[in-house]
Amino acid sequence: MKFSITPYDLRLVAPFTTARATVDRRSGLLVTLADGEHAGFGEVAPMPGWSPIDIDRAGAMLLAAIAGIEAGGDFDDALDDLEHAPEVRAGLAGAAADLAARRRGLSLARSLDPDSSSTVAVNAVVGSGSPAHTAAAGLDAIQRGFSVIKVKVGVVEPEVDIERVAALRRAVGTDIELRLDANGAWDPLTAQRVLGSVAVDEIAFCEEPVPGIDAIAALGAASPIPLAIDESARTVDDVARALGTGVIDVVVIKPQSIGGPDLAMRAVRLTREFGATPIITTMIDSAIGVRHAVHVAAASGVDLAHGLATSSSLADDLATPPMIVDGTISVGSSPGLGVTPH
Ligand SMILES: [Mg+2]
Repeated sequence: MKFSITPYDLRLVAPFTTARATVDRRSGLLVTLADGEHAGFGEVAPMPGWSPIDIDRAGAMLLAAIAGIEAGGDFDDALDDLEHAPEVRAGLAGAAADLAARRRGLSLARSLDPDSSSTVAVNAVVGSGSPAHTAAAGLDAIQRGFSVIKVKVGVVEPEVDIERVAALRRAVGTDIELRLDANGAWDPLTAQRVLGSVAVDEIAFCEEPVPGIDAIAALGAASPIPLAIDESARTVDDVARALGTGVIDVVVIKPQSIGGPDLAMRAVRLTREFGATPIITTMIDSAIGVRHAVHVAAASGVDLAHGLATSSSLADDLATPPMIVDGTISVGSSPGLGVTPH
């Protein structure tokens, strides 16, 4: 077994603003694990303003973990030691899972769950903007074949968001599923007011209306719209705690930020056991990370749209990103991830 690490730095088509940072590139480390015959790939790509560690710290931890394994340390113990560096764990666990699937001649999805589906539905994302811009962006998404649209809210004034959602619903008609994502921007009163107002627009669910599991749970009982956690679901333990409140309907799971495909699948199973819905998304990963997320989504048993249509945000990429036709990604039956880096 031989590890190698290749740093990469991918430009975004346009700067991307999270709650705490604006990023114009995605920097990461491609992890390759080779056995002489096959190679598996994973990536380590902490997101500035989101992840607990930055890329320099991640690189140092990755090197230390690999040195420990190469010195005879147990691979699973090394993964356990990376509990507080989930992106580093995702890179190592991802490369190992891809390699194991390739050795078995199975797609990663099939190796995660033998009943995995062969296609994955994906949603479009409409960023913030005026009501007219929001409606136009929704129509553009429909023209590109999407039937589920996620709208970013919480960046502009609440009244404008209410108008935006109404304008979008008017423009796209009643057959399109609309979801909201507030990225924890609202206080509880604002969240109640906006969610109460947009309920007439038939919203499937709202991600992180307020910040944190406790605040979302407090809002949940009174919300006219199902609620989802995303930023608050950093670990499988977070997911368990959130589901335990009994008022979370949807859990957004990012294989890169939760620690890799195996932990993502653990969170998926837990979410389904509670009768809630797991939705798989990327963290604007490279095509390697996106493929990992696609295979987890295919293995999740959830045929609703997942948040995997993010590759168009990157001006260049590590490998061929999945093709999206009519809002659907075909998983394919090639071994492992089904792609290799350029
Ligand atoms: Mg979100």
